[in-house]
Amino acid sequence: MSKKKLPKYPLVWQKDDFFIKIFCSIPNIATGILLRTEKASFVIDPGDGILRDLNQELDKNKILEISDIFVSHGHHDHVGGVWSLLTYMSVMHRKSPLNMYFPKGCLEIPSIYKAFLSVYKKEVHFDINLIEIENSKTFRRKAVSIKPFKVVHKEPSTDSTQASEVPSLGFKFIYDKKSICYGGDTAYCENLVKNVKDSDLAIIEAGAEDGEESELHLTIAQAEKIGSTAKEYFLVHVPE
Ligand SMILES: [Zn+2]
Ligand SMILES: [Zn+2]
Repeated sequence: MSKKKLPKYPLVWQKDDFFIKIFCSIPNIATGILLRTEKASFVIDPGDGILRDLNQELDKNKILEISDIFVSHGHHDHVGGVWSLLTYMSVMHRKSPLNMYFPKGCLEIPSIYKAFLSVYKKEVHFDINLIEIENSKTFRRKAVSIKPFKVVHKEPSTDSTQASEVPSLGFKFIYDKKSICYGGDTAYCENLVKNVKDSDLAIIEAGAEDGEESELHLTIAQAEKIGSTAKEYFLVHVPE
């Protein structure tokens, strides 16, 4: 087997004021991504450590300006930091509403939200809008167009040999005629191929553990092949 090419985090890409920083993306550990423009401040897949990373990157007021959180799917390495981020925003007296997008059928985000409010309801003075995504309709936030798209991501099932599908999305962010396509966790799927093509930046997982094609994750070879159809690409979520 060829030696794995591990990404060196953080990964940063910027064109004018369109900026993305991938603090981390390691399977079973954590993912954490910040996307910014002059007017927008979004977080994508707030895994464990996101608050620490944001705190190093931004001052308090800038963290409180984060308006939208995009969750590709509910696996712990993509949502593990939601609780601490919400708590921080509450403790720092956030007032403006926060939107959280997640795929329809994802149980984790509504569960975390419910548990969080049951503990902190009296202290939370901002609205948390849960937005379940069930189609690929493009919507706009802060001058950024966001196109969610369904990807195929499975997890090994405990009671059978069949892998079961996890509700999972990728997101394409379009701003100032440039696009960033984030595939989330996915095995090979046409939807990913289609959305990555001609993107200015593609962020593609290469999480297949043994380097063999599987229905759980992409291999490095598969991810590189898809990535090469974009102008630039990052491979992420490579097992260490
Ligand atoms: Zn993952
Ligand atoms: Zn996953």
